[in-house]
Amino acid sequence: MKLFFALFFFFISFIGFSQQTQFIDIKKGDVTLTIDPELKKVSGYVVYTFDILKATDSLFIDAKNMEIEAVFLNDSPVEFTYNNTKLKVNYNFKSNTLNSLKIEYYTSPKKALYFVSPDGNNKTQVWTQGQGKYTSNWLPSFDDMNEKIEFDLSISTPSIYKTIANGKLVDKIEEKNLTTWKYDMQYPMSSYLVALAVGNYDYETEVSKSGIPIEMYYYPNKSDIVEPTYRHTKHIFDFLETEIGVAYPWQNYKQVPVKDFLYAGMENTSLTIFSDSHMVDSIGFIDKNYINVNAHELAHQWFGDLVTEESSTHHWLQEGFATYYALLAEKEIFGEDYFYEQLYNSAKQLEDLNKNGGESLLNPKASSLTFYERGAWAIFALRNYIGDRAFKKSIKKYLKDYAFKNANTHNFINIAAAKSQIKLEDFVQKWFVNPKFPLEDAKQLLLQNEVSKTLLTIDEMNNEEVIKYAEAHPIIFSSQDKSVIVTHILKRLLPNSEEEKAVFLKAMQSNVLKTRQAVALYMNPIPQEFKSEFEKLLLDKSYLTIQNALMKLWVNFPFPKDRVRFLDKTKGITGFSDKNIETLWLTLALITEDYQQNNKKEYFDILLSYTNPSQHFEIRQQAFQYLYQIKGFDEMALRNLVQACKHPVWQFSKFSRELLKELMSNKDYRIVLEGIVTDLPSEEKVFLEQQLQEN
Ligand SMILES: [Zn+2]
Repeated sequence: MKLFFALFFFFISFIGFSQQTQFIDIKKGDVTLTIDPELKKVSGYVVYTFDILKATDSLFIDAKNMEIEAVFLNDSPVEFTYNNTKLKVNYNFKSNTLNSLKIEYYTSPKKALYFVSPDGNNKTQVWTQGQGKYTSNWLPSFDDMNEKIEFDLSISTPSIYKTIANGKLVDKIEEKNLTTWKYDMQYPMSSYLVALAVGNYDYETEVSKSGIPIEMYYYPNKSDIVEPTYRHTKHIFDFLETEIGVAYPWQNYKQVPVKDFLYAGMENTSLTIFSDSHMVDSIGFIDKNYINVNAHELAHQWFGDLVTEESSTHHWLQEGFATYYALLAEKEIFGEDYFYEQLYNSAKQLEDLNKNGGESLLNPKASSLTFYERGAWAIFALRNYIGDRAFKKSIKKYLKDYAFKNANTHNFINIAAAKSQIKLEDFVQKWFVNPKFPLEDAKQLLLQNEVSKTLLTIDEMNNEEVIKYAEAHPIIFSSQDKSVIVTHILKRLLPNSEEEKAVFLKAMQSNVLKTRQAVALYMNPIPQEFKSEFEKLLLDKSYLTIQNALMKLWVNFPFPKDRVRFLDKTKGITGFSDKNIETLWLTLALITEDYQQNNKKEYFDILLSYTNPSQHFEIRQQAFQYLYQIKGFDEMALRNLVQACKHPVWQFSKFSRELLKELMSNKDYRIVLEGIVTDLPSEEKVFLEQQLQEN
């Protein structure tokens, strides 16, 4: 009953929310824009073709902070009002079909369409991020997800760039220094999924089993890491298409990495945009690959893009399914143990959330842990409950019935109940409605797999029993698949007693990369007698292992001779795209007495240069962090930090603001900050003045 009420309330608010779709059906949006990366300006027009379903006296279009130059209804100028948020066309519409509305405008978007500065090797990038209601910051469109439109984009950009947008490239016209890229969509989508990316790109194409072209974009100077970055892409595509059982709905699939992206990835229709920090070499692949994001965004092409949630109450219909199918793809690639390990991990996080009362899956304000992980768990549990056959039939029917439309939880559950002939009220109450995650039921499901079963068993043991378990099961130290168990054990122990040391030693002498990594992560302090064995970790083919091993060795063994050796062994290793090893190495080289005295200035300059706005935000964050620890900020680094406080990636700007606050409590830094405030760019100046006043 509770579910019914929840849906009932939702239904009322829904009517008010998307009223316009009852009167007007927008069919098509022809978008013709010129983007100027130098001036950071978007200009052009959009023509909407629409039917009037019921007579009405107005038409609203969302458009934020734009200069509207003219509006034409069926080719004649029409009266309109604009309040910087919504454009209202005042007209006595009679019910009829095939009207057209043309809006001419220009704008310099503050969000949703970003101009990202080049980093030396690359040109400026332009890319969009429309979810939840942001597309109307650069394109007059419809914030309501229930308004689905076939958008065809025609984008002109300077000819030095490649321009990628939703759908199929049908024409490319070069005129003087401007190239026009015409893209065609065949089916409708919500406005938040309209997207484009402009930059310096090459791409490789594979074709799926079903004949869909899969285009994988990359920076021309990074062609050597295309293979590890996009490893298994075609396999994932073919697997998901078969597993879901419904043909991929769009003409092609494109994946484009961009700098300083706000999230890991975004599933724009037929065009996934993802953070270029997922571009990895073969060593980086071990710890930080694109597989999960790759599969997650692809699954959204069905769950989110083809069938869209009616409102955020049903957000799990998108994120839960994308998370679940990404897990299935990982199971296909990494095996069943990996699949259950991930489910175990998310169950643990949800157990913690339960301690604060939990969060219903149908709470529109829920955290992403709930929408993503609890959503995936609910789907996994449902499949176990109703069986594979009924589950697959339900998915097919759901995607068919609601294709190019919107759906809610009720719609999906009704189908699952009908296909399985099982009453689902109690199941829905437990897995969807109740704030508490059903942990005991989840544990029962985890017992289906030996690895997750072992993890649960170890959780019930005290440390003595854990050590005994490790002694009795030497196989876990040599098996690739069991490294997760060793990691679980080492997390619990400290190398204090002889018995504990023996467990660490076995792990350290293993050949399994992830088992050895657990030693690098969790052995602290390093017993003197383990020094030379631990040092071998510096040669492992894992950037995460090397970073942690270097840091721990340097801290644990302060003799200059040792430290020089650690540094010499790791010199020249960059690490992940955030330069995790290089930035650490530079920092340690600077503070290691008598180490390469003549090069210290050069090392310091390199570290400072990594705070520059042209660098990737993750590199900047590393550099800021280390400069803080060694009290190494100079005036330029402080300027760069103030600039970072206004960065669009909120995690990074938050980090920068907190660090700035911390630095302001230092008298010397404060004097420098007070000195530079007057000649900062206006937005940063206002910000810093305010900070200096408040802190
Ligand atoms: Zn997602």
